[in-house]
Amino acid sequence: GWGSRSMAEAAAGSHPPPDVDSDECLREYGHLFSPDILAGQVAFITGGGSGIGFRIAEIFMRHGCRTVIASRNLQRVVEASKKLVAATGQQCLPLSIDVRQPQTIAAAVDEALREFKRIDILINGAAGNFLCPASALSFNAFKTVIDIDTIGTFNTSKVLFEKYFQDHGGVIVNITATLSYRGQALQVHAGTAKAAIDAMTRHLAVEWGPNNIRVNSLAPGPITGTEGYRRLGGKFAEEASQFDMIPLQRAGNKTEIAHSTLYLASPLSSYVTGTTLVVDGGSWLTAANNFPALLGIASSSAK
Ligand code: NAP
Repeated sequence: GWGSRSMAEAAAGSHPPPDVDSDECLREYGHLFSPDILAGQVAFITGGGSGIGFRIAEIFMRHGCRTVIASRNLQRVVEASKKLVAATGQQCLPLSIDVRQPQTIAAAVDEALREFKRIDILINGAAGNFLCPASALSFNAFKTVIDIDTIGTFNTSKVLFEKYFQDHGGVIVNITATLSYRGQALQVHAGTAKAAIDAMTRHLAVEWGPNNIRVNSLAPGPITGTEGYRRLGGKFAEEASQFDMIPLQRAGNKTEIAHSTLYLASPLSSYVTGTTLVVDGGSWLTAANNFPALLGIASSSAK
């Protein structure tokens, strides 16, 4: 198992904690943070039924947190919640929402407050993405990504503010991306949407700081075992040894993103607000932004 030896290694460098690629819980887990760092708290996680959001829910629950996982597909979040409860022994409430429709968010938050009486943490993880050159992107496709990612993040944050955080304080973590930092090819839609969320993070941190609400972004790099990785050419990059170009020489895993999110959601970051924490192994600094090569990935992954 990953006992004290591997924990010491993890502390010493950049060895990743174990993960599984599917939307299953970890077979074993060794705590790095205090296991009760989120004891008694409740987190509302959009996109919590799959990928990064699922692992964030699991890691939070392993640290004493109860969770609400919310996305469009009710069956997906119901199945996910069964796995999460079985693995962690914590409560998890699965709810259907579409972040583009504020009334669905309001209904879900009301139900969560009825069930748990409190919400301490909001993770805005819901998003949609695909590779597409601007020249081939429909007007509607661009708008849809802005609607889900950017406007969905605003909608959910505002509902939580009005229904609970305004009077009780809270923590918001927005899951963004590094795509806009260098104008990543084939990503004008998602890069623009996520850059706007990083701006929103700063605006809301300023306005809501006096309400004891912290707002931060977390920008992952390439993360294995995710829809993002499958769709955005992660396997292709792996096979083409493109990860040699990343300073830490590898993709990250979902547990690593969950651990960094746990830091931002926990009292360990009590004086941190209005920032973006980049969790990408240094990738955006050095990775290729090669338009012709990415076009090759886009056409091969579309097949
Ligand atoms: P994912 O599994 O596809 O997660 C996206 C989630 O959003 C799904 O659970 C989906 O569930 C939900 N969702 C989509 N549209 C929604 C809507 N209109 N309303 C409510 N929920 C909606 O992908 P992932 O790769 O783990 O990504 C998670 C987050 O990390 C995203 O914000 C993504 O941009 C970010 N990110 C990922 C990577 C990576 O390498 N994977 C890199 C950078 C950033 P339903 O279909 O049930 O609605």
